[in-house]
Amino acid sequence: MHALVYTGIKELVYREEKNPKVINGESIVKVSASGICGSDMHAYHGKDNRRIPPLILGHEISGIIDKGKFAGKKVILNPLITCRKCDYCSSGREHLCIKRIILGMNKPIERQGGFAEYVSIPNQNIYELPKTLEMKEAPIAEPTAVALHAVELGEKKLSKSLKDSKALVIGGGAIGLLSGLILSKVKDCKEIVIVDPNEKRLGECSKYLNAVSVKPDSKSIIANHFDIVFDTVGMEVTRQQAINVVKPGGVIIHIGLTHPSGRFDFRKATLQEITFIGTYCYTNEDFEKTLDILANKKIGSLAWIEYRKLNEGASAFQQIHDGTCSSPKIILLI
Ligand SMILES: [Zn+2]
Ligand SMILES: [Zn+2]
Repeated sequence: MHALVYTGIKELVYREEKNPKVINGESIVKVSASGICGSDMHAYHGKDNRRIPPLILGHEISGIIDKGKFAGKKVILNPLITCRKCDYCSSGREHLCIKRIILGMNKPIERQGGFAEYVSIPNQNIYELPKTLEMKEAPIAEPTAVALHAVELGEKKLSKSLKDSKALVIGGGAIGLLSGLILSKVKDCKEIVIVDPNEKRLGECSKYLNAVSVKPDSKSIIANHFDIVFDTVGMEVTRQQAINVVKPGGVIIHIGLTHPSGRFDFRKATLQEITFIGTYCYTNEDFEKTLDILANKKIGSLAWIEYRKLNEGASAFQQIHDGTCSSPKIILLI
């Protein structure tokens, strides 16, 4: 099969690879569309110790079952593979499973990803593509589930409803825009500010999201002002902005994985009772809810997604790296 293989830092090669073998309890999917995630970009920069080259990246996948139980069905994949036995798996918190692995990773276990013609996946990770959702758009379900999980974790900890809360979203990438869209269109939050240094990105976000779109030094980002702050970037500077602008008693939702550590105002966090929540992936229930949100067009138009061919994948990664691509999401079509 043809695949886009991550072969070294900032290096992707479109080449011939072995087809995945049929394993008991799994199906082979003929991939139709596969989205480029921020975490694929971390790997590309050589900053992800779970994704070591050579490896086929990609975990936001839609396609048609080629071999297996549901052959011929149009599907969308939940790429988070878990043991289904441990305490987390049996209490609806599958995403915290000690044995969890995502497609397109090879540490601790190898699982080739979706930037290829075929991929293997356990049958329980397969969902039927909703009829109202286009195959090429469907990979957006995965990052939408990440955003939904993050928003709902924050919602539970707030002392008032999201509807009446002031929210700041840091980062205008896919997770930032999707978090904003869920806040606005699903949770009816009316005061949203989204911040990104890239003007082109902000321009894209403002076409689809009812929010104030600003650069990080804007006067609209007021200290001690926001009930809830989403840091979808996770850099030291964005974390410091988050703690600076969150209100006493407010909530910080930390999603980004850019800088693993750094300085943080623990004094304010303590004196002002700030809730800091780390969030990763989604539960199976979140994934199902997300399919319902997308099937019913609850987050509006998905025209902000850009598409490229798989064999143009290397240049798509390059453009995301350079910041020359304004779209918050590129999906590769196979
Ligand atoms: Zn992703
Ligand atoms: Zn488990």
